[in-house]
Amino acid sequence: MNNAEIIELTHRHQVDIYGCLPIAFARGEGSYLYDADGNRYLDFFTGLAVASLGHAHPRVVRAIAEQAQKLTHVSNVFHTEPAARLVERLANKFGAGGRVFLGNSGAEANEAAIKLARRWGHKDGGGRFEIIATQGSFHGRTLATLTATGQEKYHQGFQPLVPGFRLVPYDDVAAFERSVGDQTVAVMLEPIQGEGGVVVPHADYLKRIREICDRAQLLLILDEIQVGVGRTGTFFAFEQAGIQPDIVTLAKALGGGLPIGAMIARDEVASSLTPGSHGTTFGGNPVACAAALAVLDAFDAEGVLDNARKMGSYLIERLREIARGIDRVAEVRGLGMIIGVVLKHDPRPVVDACIKERLLVNGTAGNVLRLLPPLNLKREDADAGLKIIERALKEAPRPA
Ligand code: PLP
Repeated sequence: MNNAEIIELTHRHQVDIYGCLPIAFARGEGSYLYDADGNRYLDFFTGLAVASLGHAHPRVVRAIAEQAQKLTHVSNVFHTEPAARLVERLANKFGAGGRVFLGNSGAEANEAAIKLARRWGHKDGGGRFEIIATQGSFHGRTLATLTATGQEKYHQGFQPLVPGFRLVPYDDVAAFERSVGDQTVAVMLEPIQGEGGVVVPHADYLKRIREICDRAQLLLILDEIQVGVGRTGTFFAFEQAGIQPDIVTLAKALGGGLPIGAMIARDEVASSLTPGSHGTTFGGNPVACAAALAVLDAFDAEGVLDNARKMGSYLIERLREIARGIDRVAEVRGLGMIIGVVLKHDPRPVVDACIKERLLVNGTAGNVLRLLPPLNLKREDADAGLKIIERALKEAPRPA
């Protein structure tokens, strides 16, 4: 099928929720995607921070193929080696005697974190249940994670939302401290807000939140679904803040393109979830786990984090140079390979101009051009992308 045929067929039958761009992709290789008409695109979008090792990474492909030939599903009533190995690797990375719950998506990982916090609150926290989240956040589309999402546009038409959540401004320690009450059990935060516009908080934000959590005996839940798995240049973003959360959630890049999510919690907290209290049919799926193990192997063997740090700094530096001469850019911000070019207007015309030149980028938060390139991006591909972005920033029309 060609682009037009695929697009037409999708529109005829799919629930209309995505506002898809009129491109149908057929295959990918490294930092490039190919549409069904054979056009090649440089990918600074990576399926929204999923294809962090690029497309069709040989290690990941091999692991998926080998596991698919052996076993694809058994149920969590039984054990499998890929799941056993993955929970071990993730628990060790987390430290603090971490225990891991495996699910299928980011929302499901966050939902598990919310349920765990409530359960811990009822059991060990004196009946506390309220979770504080932040304005501008994005935590998922299930009803509870939607309630924790501090963006009104995602709530519209879905009320009543789930009780027991409170929203406070992001990167505002005093507002958080004021909002802690007798029933507060946890705070849920992104170390950098992704959908919210690549908002990087003050350097001591997480540390100060951690201190308040310690004083008030609150759980600190970090949502690293977008910024974890190396996106900021360390495996967990929280490593750079020098703190340890009680619970962290991962998804997106963890499965190298296959759907998988993980919630990792301190042992004493995790033990509040007892047999039968939570679960999911596909959680720990052997093929998804094999893919995730291959992703972790690639991180260990291929200098992925080092490249993310170096290439991320290079991109941010070059974008700041480019922005200096361009009036429509307010700021370039980010960390590692999550970068926001903050515009003084809707990013749509700039996004369109990039895509027209076959560079995939995305707009978010009403005025931010968001770049999420592969973490193993090569210098020549970084430069090719920068050239297109520079031209788009200079030449794209301003919105009316
Ligand atoms: N949390 C964050 C920070 C996200 O960026 C996202 C998705 O964009 C989610 C949660 C939800 O993940 P999923 O779409 O896999 O449910």
